[in-house]
Amino acid sequence: MTKKRPLPKINADTKAFWEGCREHELRLQKCGDCGHLRHPPAFICPNCHSSRTVLVKASGRGRVYSYAVYHVAFDPAFQGDLPYVVALVALEEGPQIVTNIVGCDPAAVSCEMAVEVVWDDRGKGVSLPIFRPINSHHNEVRK
Ligand SMILES: [Zn+2]
Repeated sequence: MTKKRPLPKINADTKAFWEGCREHELRLQKCGDCGHLRHPPAFICPNCHSSRTVLVKASGRGRVYSYAVYHVAFDPAFQGDLPYVVALVALEEGPQIVTNIVGCDPAAVSCEMAVEVVWDDRGKGVSLPIFRPINSHHNEVRK
């Protein structure tokens, strides 16, 4: 029996981010005072503590900063995805995002690899930003 994969828990701080994802836009918070870009979403700017925030659309491109290949599922819902890649991607704009790398052999993933966002529509209006290598010839998104 396959357990359903958990969906993100959306709160007041992250709602605008997930609404962007639903529209397949990666949105970052930008401080309305000092201009600092941040992710994950937070109520105040970690740089100047301002609560003035605007949203900006990220390009969706970045580079793998760090990653791990999972060979054991910490949650049974991910059993069918093994092996899969959990990565920290440094976006072009600066902030880093925890995500998955798809569209290539997990053994082919490396730090500094150029990646771009693809959208993993999970139903119930939830789309997850995951990444694939740029210039990948594998356009299939593994679910
Ligand atoms: Zn600020």
